[in-house]
Amino acid sequence: MPYRAPLESFQLILDQVVGYDAVAATERFAEAGAETVQAVMAEAGRLCEDVLTPTNRVGDQNPAVLENGVVRTPPGFADAYRAIAEGGWVSSSADPEHGGMGLPITLTTAVNEMMSAANMALQTGTLMTQGQIEALENHASDAIKDLYLPKLISGEWSGTMNLTEPQAGSDVGALTTKAEDNGDGTYAITGQKIYITWGDHDMADNVCHLVLARIPGAPAGTKGISLFLVPKFIPDEAGNPGERNGLRVVSLEKKMGTHGCPTCVMSYEGATGWLVGAEQGGIKAMFTMMNNARLGVGAQGVGVAEAATQAAIAWAAERKQGKSSTGTIDGHADVRRMLAEMRAETFTARSIALACAVAIDMQTATGDAEWAARAALLTPIAKAFGTDTGIAVSQLGIQVHGGMGYIEETGAAQFLRDVRVTAIYEGTNGIQAMDLVGRKLADGGEAAFALLDEIEECAESVRHDHPMLAEPVWQAAETLRETTEALVARDPADRQAGAVPFLRAFARVLGGYFHLKAAMARPDGPEARLAAFYITRLLPEHTGLCAQARAKSDTVMALSPEDLAA
Ligand SMILES: Cc1cc2nc3c(=O)[nH]c(=O)nc-3n(C[C@H](O)[C@H](O)[C@H](O)COP(=O)(O)OP(=O)(O)OC[C@H]3O[C@@H](n4cnc5c(N)ncnc54)[C@H](O)[C@@H]3O)c2cc1C
Repeated sequence: MPYRAPLESFQLILDQVVGYDAVAATERFAEAGAETVQAVMAEAGRLCEDVLTPTNRVGDQNPAVLENGVVRTPPGFADAYRAIAEGGWVSSSADPEHGGMGLPITLTTAVNEMMSAANMALQTGTLMTQGQIEALENHASDAIKDLYLPKLISGEWSGTMNLTEPQAGSDVGALTTKAEDNGDGTYAITGQKIYITWGDHDMADNVCHLVLARIPGAPAGTKGISLFLVPKFIPDEAGNPGERNGLRVVSLEKKMGTHGCPTCVMSYEGATGWLVGAEQGGIKAMFTMMNNARLGVGAQGVGVAEAATQAAIAWAAERKQGKSSTGTIDGHADVRRMLAEMRAETFTARSIALACAVAIDMQTATGDAEWAARAALLTPIAKAFGTDTGIAVSQLGIQVHGGMGYIEETGAAQFLRDVRVTAIYEGTNGIQAMDLVGRKLADGGEAAFALLDEIEECAESVRHDHPMLAEPVWQAAETLRETTEALVARDPADRQAGAVPFLRAFARVLGGYFHLKAAMARPDGPEARLAAFYITRLLPEHTGLCAQARAKSDTVMALSPEDLAA
């Protein structure tokens, strides 16, 4: 199924919606101005359209397999991966000191979105490596950085993250993998990890695992966890993959989607590992990787939403049923509604992801605490809303296809099967919402209120000329402000039952703001018509969501498990 990189949409959002010019105006990212953006996006877009997209169906139909202890990837994946690596896309934001391009995260996020649209199963591997690079850049010793970063950045080696164990999913602190001091600067890692994305494969010369484990005697829970780098092959003195380490793939999971991506059960059997960061500082170090990955996973959702939207639009322009203004089903009002919803939601989710990325870049470039707070606030929203949008839009895509959406040959079903996991991994969307109403409101709502002030100022400034668009956005921001105030005043435990609707209400209001800005930039363009659609038909959902968020938890918790089973 062809995919067209949405370069115009990116350009509009970067220029007019999320204020990318502020990033390019910093000294740190002075070289990432308009020309660089265009060149990067065009080049990455071509790679996604021409090289990655053709491998997407192949991967779905030819899953990765485990043969004699070695994972074999689907036909064409190794070549596509090589093209990604040779283009420098494994880690375009990595530090140039070790061979990276040093581009803003904003551009990497846009490229990640396009790669996910083209082949999410393959892109997941690149995303893991990106996260590992960032964790090592921030927390590893110079020796580890010098040895590993150039290989990871070039794509010769790849990276994974190993948190999950059978009894330790969302509750990472329950992990039991242990790390015993070998007395020579290394540790012996022993335990089982499950669901490890790209835990092994035949596309790179080495697979480097970042593993969370507990040193004997360390406290229980997350506080006692440390992080270790555990390569499949221990590098020799020249930095080449040497002796095989004590780890193996036990099995591959059989999954609903992303069949091309090997998801491994890993066994560590006294494997040699090197400490990254401080002893018992594992969670802090891992969070560097997880925050990067959370935004990256949000972008996966957006990418799949874009691909599903393009497929549905193309289908609806061909399929004839009944009489319609266009002669095909896209002339029917209900089909037009579905297509418009897909387009409007994809725009919203993309804008949120890029706004989050801009905040991260501004934080990096300026060290400003307000940007850091903005980035922290937007990360769970970008992750959860981006992935929920990927699922909802793929679902609509199937509906637009009618019966053929349920038949695998159109590819509409693959989008939904692939993207479904994005709401689960990197912290379920429920956990993202807990993070939003817990840690991210721990400042008394300061970061949230600053963003709402910005939205209201924007709406007020165009209220006179565009009342039909600006007024509802201002009102929605005000309702969300009241809801945020109510949540902040409440006991954190009592916020949790309303966490998911609160996150979604926040995304809804952000969507109103971003659509409004796009409409102001192109008052006569399709952007203004899409904004009118969103603001009239989708934004009103925030009222119900805010009511749910404000409701006390007793209406949920009063229902006992016995009541529910009755
Ligand atoms: C395809 C795939 C790839 C993955 N890749 C990786 C990987 O590369 N590395 C890795 O380490 N892990 C990976 N994971 C694991 C993934 O991160 C976990 O599945 C996820 O964190 C959820 O953990 P769990 O499956 O144990 O679910 P559980 O933690 O059992 O959650 C079940 C439900 O309970 C809810 N819940 C749990 N705790 C709470 C709470 N405190 N408050 C409110 N609700 C709660 C959850 O939101 C969820 O709805 C992958 C998983 C899959 C399916």
